[in-house]
Amino acid sequence: MRVLIVEDEPRLAENIARALREGAGYAVDVAPDGQEGLFLAESNAYDIVLLDLMLPRLDGMQVLARIRQAGQHTPVLVLTARDDKESVVALLNAGADDYLTKPFDLGELLARSKALIRRGKGQPSPVLTIGDLTLNTVSRTVQRGGRMITLTAMEYRVLEYLAHRPRAVVSKTELLEHLYDYNWEKFSNVIEVYISGLRRKLDDGSSRQLIRTLRGQGYILEG
Ligand code: CA
Repeated sequence: MRVLIVEDEPRLAENIARALREGAGYAVDVAPDGQEGLFLAESNAYDIVLLDLMLPRLDGMQVLARIRQAGQHTPVLVLTARDDKESVVALLNAGADDYLTKPFDLGELLARSKALIRRGKGQPSPVLTIGDLTLNTVSRTVQRGGRMITLTAMEYRVLEYLAHRPRAVVSKTELLEHLYDYNWEKFSNVIEVYISGLRRKLDDGSSRQLIRTLRGQGYILEG
């Protein structure tokens, strides 16, 4: 998953980014003002946007309105200060999905972000079941047919993304866009390496291949 944080307090932005990277394995981009936030939101594929309200150059309310006017359905979690004038009603009416009042607990932010991402992908339960595969997005553990499977951090991130879109064709480009932040060089062959690692571990002892390749199109996680 890939997250955009639009927050002008550098220390808070860095703390949130670290919590999302370490606590959830998400790729994270940070924008220090509303204009850059809007630019990034319009030019990249995010699974959630964490949006501060009081921002330089373009405030959070304007960023939110522009994102929704552009027809983007990405979940938006608004970070409000106690003295922000915008009411919760106005925020929700403008298309925000949830909000948190500062100061907030990073664990709560993480849990709410995960819940919004799941709901945004039509998967409200934190435990995803696809056939005999079970993926727990809270403990970040994977089982197939009751057998615990140990994955590397990147293998888990690839599988989690696929598990949120079961039986859909997911291209390599889509995986790269959702698994890397903008500081990373994107090489499509790294995805092939993770997929082959996943197959080796997931299909061990099973007669059926869980991840199917569609030549030139991408991958399908089948149940
Ligand atoms: Ca602010």
